[in-house]
Amino acid sequence: MIAEVIVDVAAYPIDRPFDYAVPAEWESVMEPGLRVKVPFGPRKVVGYVTAIKMHSELDSGKIKPVLEIIDLEPVLSTELLALSKWMAAETIAYEIDALQVMLPAAMRAKYEKIMRVVKPELLDDSFREFLGNREQVSLKALQDAHLLNEVKKYSEQGIVQIDTAIQQKTKMKKVRMIHIPDTAHLESALEETHSNAKKQVELLQWLLLHPSKSMEASEIMNKSGVKANVLKALLDKQVIEQSQVEVYRELDAPKMRDSGKPEQLTDEQQSALSAIEQASDKKKQETFLLHGITGSGKTEVYLQAIDHVLKKGKEAIVLVPEISLTPQMTARFKGRFGELVAVLHSGLSSGEKYDEWRRIHRGEVKVAIGARSAVFAPFTNLGLLILDEEHESTYKQEESPRYHARDVAIWRADYHRCPVIFGSATPSLESYARATKDVYTLLTLTKRAKQQALPEVQVVDMREELKTGNRSMFSVALADGIRQRLERKEQIVLLLNKRGFSSFVLCRDCGTVVECPNCDISLTYHRSSESLKCHYCGHEQPVPIECPECASEHIRFFGTGTQKAQEELYKLVPEARVIRMDVDTTSTKGAHERLLHDFGEGKADILLGTQMIAKGLDFPRITLVGVLAADTSLHLADFRAAEKTFQLLTQVSGRAGRDQLPGEVVIQTYDPEHYAIELSKTQEYVPFYELEMDRRRQLGYPPYYFVTVVQFSHEDVLKAADYAHKGTSFLMEQLSSESVIIGPTAAAISRLNNRYRYQCLVKYKQEPALVPVLQKLLKHYKTSWAKDGLVMSINREPTAIF
Ligand code: ADP
Ligand code: ZN
Ligand code: ZN
Repeated sequence: MIAEVIVDVAAYPIDRPFDYAVPAEWESVMEPGLRVKVPFGPRKVVGYVTAIKMHSELDSGKIKPVLEIIDLEPVLSTELLALSKWMAAETIAYEIDALQVMLPAAMRAKYEKIMRVVKPELLDDSFREFLGNREQVSLKALQDAHLLNEVKKYSEQGIVQIDTAIQQKTKMKKVRMIHIPDTAHLESALEETHSNAKKQVELLQWLLLHPSKSMEASEIMNKSGVKANVLKALLDKQVIEQSQVEVYRELDAPKMRDSGKPEQLTDEQQSALSAIEQASDKKKQETFLLHGITGSGKTEVYLQAIDHVLKKGKEAIVLVPEISLTPQMTARFKGRFGELVAVLHSGLSSGEKYDEWRRIHRGEVKVAIGARSAVFAPFTNLGLLILDEEHESTYKQEESPRYHARDVAIWRADYHRCPVIFGSATPSLESYARATKDVYTLLTLTKRAKQQALPEVQVVDMREELKTGNRSMFSVALADGIRQRLERKEQIVLLLNKRGFSSFVLCRDCGTVVECPNCDISLTYHRSSESLKCHYCGHEQPVPIECPECASEHIRFFGTGTQKAQEELYKLVPEARVIRMDVDTTSTKGAHERLLHDFGEGKADILLGTQMIAKGLDFPRITLVGVLAADTSLHLADFRAAEKTFQLLTQVSGRAGRDQLPGEVVIQTYDPEHYAIELSKTQEYVPFYELEMDRRRQLGYPPYYFVTVVQFSHEDVLKAADYAHKGTSFLMEQLSSESVIIGPTAAAISRLNNRYRYQCLVKYKQEPALVPVLQKLLKHYKTSWAKDGLVMSINREPTAIF
């Protein structure tokens, strides 16, 4: 018997299955989807069995044997093996990468399989003899004793259980705290310390000058300048004491308000649900685009659709853009389906994630909720897949394999012949275009479920504020609104729109942003050369000293941080309690949930943050939402800038007035007439869609064209440019004249980690040669360019082009 194995070595000529001989005693155990250890050159490596066959084309002398079987049950089903093949081809990635992305990270860590005896009385005598008085034995030992066949039989009968002992990569984070005695004790210790022990004296003096009950060891060393051995000396003398303290404690998700009972659906919800149930009953792959305004009850439709498929004994996957941002949503699913739900939370340790994965693999749960990679949840009888907020760019993985969860969801639904739901208040243009062409079935919810009115939206022109002498970040309208809410003890959300890497130049007097004359895209400001560049077409010009429209001198680089905003907010309303939420305040484990929890409990009046606060918040006392600068995302150097702005404004506006109290939204901008801002006021998606589609068609952007970006980076700027030229010319020669090839141009971030970055854009409607040509290019790169230090990446349908 021969096993075809993909080995864990990501390198060019190795990207194919290799044949290995299966020792006769393992023939009944060997299956596709198992992990094995095999010899590869001088090494032993892990590999995935992708197929079994009786004969190899190779000489039997050349075939090496499988050395070890890691799993007894396949970790990848036939379905997932087929999916990985498709994904590797589609995204131009290594098969090994496509296989590994489907498994929890812990399975790539160090692991050991253990067999545990559950019913010792049912074991054969010889097996019991082998065990002696051990209750558990590693699978490796069993393999060495030639007992795998028995173990498999016992495991199927439930006599033994196979578990994995993993060496955890991520442990609970702890810090060393030093407990410092009072001044009197320190002084007497100082007297007792011999003056020869200079460093100890120095440390004691420092501690006397910095009175504190306790401090982190690292902080003491950093600030006092003494080394660890000095600290240890004082510890040994018991002058100071130490203990290990856990840094973060887990907090429960904010209290959910879901009773666990299904709601009586509105007519709109009901007809959406019926369509989904029908597809499910007919065992039909059908993709639904559920377009419903914020608060229209999309989640309730998901819950009841899942209920329907669970009753038929099937399983469901729910994807959310970023699981840690949606504690309220996951609470609702748990409230409804209880123990049947596995949450693949990004805050879990790799061991915990692996446990959740195993609960799915063993069929103990029926619903998996998680971010992008949960789309690979190892269910075998899928009945429904859901992508909430389907327009979010986090559904695209931006490293190899560069897959989009949307495509994978449709692939799996096709395999299981079941429906898929893409839900959003602001669908991506791609999806909505497909729905208008009946590729997807459009379901629409036009009213809020609890009949609340949409919040009232006011757009404030910041140019006018400047004219009247208001130079602060807060317009008069927003400042008044904030004070009023503080008086009424209602809550406020302030969004500081800060996105991506974009930096642009804006005129504060007239709102003009300098755009590329060729591409209708904001030019990116490059500080080093004091110039403006277009990274779509390469156009470059100096930063103007006066506004090309109104000749004002108030034209400059635009951008503010959350910290600055917090300081200004403090000047405006010093009495307000503010929670700031941005990358700095949420970098620790559980911080995000904790901050949201506190806000939900009313421990703060104002939540100030970046777009991470735009999603999923459902707090009844929020009655005012302020957007400090809508322009930031409007002028992203990205053809999707308007779409992203519309999405963000609609999302964040949807946070206000979700319960009894009516909501109000204030959007501050230098460009109040822009259609993305204008139409987000009333959440008018369809008119926005039509205008934006028109613009995309005129300029030849997606969804009218497909886009592939090839990026080249090198430490040497000349080499980076040279290879970018070579790659671009190659594509020009090889692709049909139907394809438009743009570049090479400097990337928006032209230098990252000391590497210079160039890119080339391919735009096409139909290009049958694309994949084979890209594969040829990849081969060039792998076999020669890579050796010269070049890094090249191919990204089909990128969500943003940096
Ligand atoms: P969306 O996901 O579209 O933003 P949700 O499903 O979160 O909307 O619904 C918004 C609110 O309306 C929630 O508090 C939810 O419990 C409630 N809700 C949803 N459907 C109904 C219904 N049919 N009747 C009453 N309340 C509902
Ligand atoms: Zn101007
Ligand atoms: Zn351009």
